[in-house]
Amino acid sequence: MRFCRFGEGRLGLVEGANVRDVTAALDVLPGCRYPLPTYDVLIANLEEVAERARTIAAAPVLPLSSLKLLSPVANPGKIVAAPVNYGKHAQEVRDNPALHNNNPALLKSIHTIGLFLKATSSLTGPGEGIALRMLDRRNDHEVELAFVIGKEARQVSRRDALQYVAGYAIGLDITIRGQEDRSFRKSPDTYTVLGPWLVTADEIPNPGALDLQLSVNGELRQKSNTRDMILGVPELIELASSFYTLYPGDVVITGTPEGVGPLAPGDTIEAFVESVGSMEVKVRAASEAPAAGHA
Ligand code: MN
Repeated sequence: MRFCRFGEGRLGLVEGANVRDVTAALDVLPGCRYPLPTYDVLIANLEEVAERARTIAAAPVLPLSSLKLLSPVANPGKIVAAPVNYGKHAQEVRDNPALHNNNPALLKSIHTIGLFLKATSSLTGPGEGIALRMLDRRNDHEVELAFVIGKEARQVSRRDALQYVAGYAIGLDITIRGQEDRSFRKSPDTYTVLGPWLVTADEIPNPGALDLQLSVNGELRQKSNTRDMILGVPELIELASSFYTLYPGDVVITGTPEGVGPLAPGDTIEAFVESVGSMEVKVRAASEAPAAGHA
């Protein structure tokens, strides 16, 4: 199943070029009182929501192209990110001072530096677009396979890891180049794009053999396959869950392949991950108002 979120907090099932509005299925979620859970309630109850969604016979059908798509996860407790997780990207960073800025933390391997976290407030959907800050500095695109944790994971071995995945999406890890810590440079509002929808894990038995690519204004910039990841999805879950508990709705972005490059206001990104789909994302300056959206 392919779950999308759109408009004002609506829930849809993507079926080809159409979306069935199954927002009514959210009624199965438990009511919440303060203090709210620190995990995503929809992802924690995804099977119940899916079951209810299947029974909504008269769900309105909307053309996908008319919808403003939001992040398929509304309230992740954390966004975990893998640095330098493709060999050729590690090499391009070492070779290019505009990428590493003589920042020693950028020249070390993932085995040495581990994972990092991005602010959850950086999360946005493809229909909302990217609002660039620090326009006097390089702002780069990074296309990544993203996955969403489906149940609590503590000290999980790589052998068992895939059963903790709820589903997959495309992640864009937008990055200001410079000296600051990764978590700071990669956490402005809209610098984590998740979309276009969540493909449930049953549809992707092997996340380690997926083509992915990114174009800017029609020009191909990044093209690779997840088999080139240094740590694959099972190894990333093993590593992350050895340091902290992963909760339903936690988003993990798995690192970018080579071909990162600068973005500017006015650009249009087209990103693709095999078995997930593709999404178009508009880039603007943070000082500009977002483009008037549709539904
Ligand atoms: Mn990245």
